[in-house]
Amino acid sequence: MKLKSLGINTICTHIGEVEDKQFKGAISPLYMSSSYAYEDVEVKRYPRYFNTPNQEALCKKIAMLEKSEAALIFSSGMAAVSTAMLAFLHKDDHVVLPQTLYGGTYNFVVKEFHKFGIEYSFADGFSEADFSEKIQKNTKVLFVETPSNPLMRITDLEMISKLAKQHKILTMIDNTFASPVNQTPADFGIDIMIHSATKYMGGHSDISAGAVAASEENIKIIWNLAKNLGGNLSDYTVWLLERSMKTMVLRVKAQNKNAKKMANWLEKHPLVEKVYYPGLKNHPDYELAKKQMSGYTGMLSFEINEGLDVSKFLKGLKMIKPSMSLAGVESTILSPAKTSHSLLTPEARKEQNISDGLLRFSVGIEEVEDIIADLEGAFSKC
Ligand SMILES: *Cc1c(COP(=O)(O)O)cnc(C)c1O
Repeated sequence: MKLKSLGINTICTHIGEVEDKQFKGAISPLYMSSSYAYEDVEVKRYPRYFNTPNQEALCKKIAMLEKSEAALIFSSGMAAVSTAMLAFLHKDDHVVLPQTLYGGTYNFVVKEFHKFGIEYSFADGFSEADFSEKIQKNTKVLFVETPSNPLMRITDLEMISKLAKQHKILTMIDNTFASPVNQTPADFGIDIMIHSATKYMGGHSDISAGAVAASEENIKIIWNLAKNLGGNLSDYTVWLLERSMKTMVLRVKAQNKNAKKMANWLEKHPLVEKVYYPGLKNHPDYELAKKQMSGYTGMLSFEINEGLDVSKFLKGLKMIKPSMSLAGVESTILSPAKTSHSLLTPEARKEQNISDGLLRFSVGIEEVEDIIADLEGAFSKC
């Protein structure tokens, strides 16, 4: 079987299975052993070496989905982000990051990097000039996150990859929001793909995991640090993640479709001020999103009219849960001003266009009619 030519749903269903040689079961057996033989074996296996049978198998699925040679799975998205960054950033090195960044990544950079003597700069916007003006002699990594959270701004991956190659620096992307279903950054020459598998890869709001995909050479460098930091994923969760990923494409495509419908519906709603969805023609990055993404994700944000009570709106919802995190099969919603961006001053929030009426909406796979009915009910209460 020529593996490279497999379709994405086939990769999700079949690649990265552990073969059940003993009983010939249809799915991967789960090997919970944390102790393996060391005599007469080719590989010494241990969970923290990231090479138990279940870990190794799942990495093949993730690598192939990201069109990469190899992958590693971690205990959380932040374990993946932090290990990947620290593997390539040493004392006196410098990294350029985007203006808007996932809160955990932002905190990691701002609170921890000084302890390692790593320097950083945030780009002022999303253009080539915004990134290139921050590149210094000691810049080693260009890190991007696209689509961004929560306003869904898009960074041009081809531009980033060209810019980095001119300066001989490594590129990393947090590809969580898009998932490999909607965006494969390796197509544009990005070196290292990072995921919070807690989100679309897991997709059921019941596991915490992370993943990194890259060339064999770069994965080896990350692995050398990873086995010392110890952010490996337990085999039971590996097994659950493999199971979840079999339906990832079906889920994400249903979420893409529902989010597009919801974006159109919200845009016409008299109580909605603004909708942020890269699949809408009036989104500032619509053309760019069309160029580098095959779907616009199940994530969108919208602003309810000034003067409406956000708390009353959220309390008025009966089905959609106001809750943290995202990308589950169930729709969830949150107020960035009250959660992810609550530590910023009101002025800083205003600067980033995070208004009190802004809501980040992770659209699930429910029937659109039911999602609409729930939102209508909430609008009537605020
Ligand atoms: C959730 C998230 C992370 C962190 O993942 P955890 O699994 O919570 O550690 C990183 N980046 C993005 C874009 C996320 O949404």
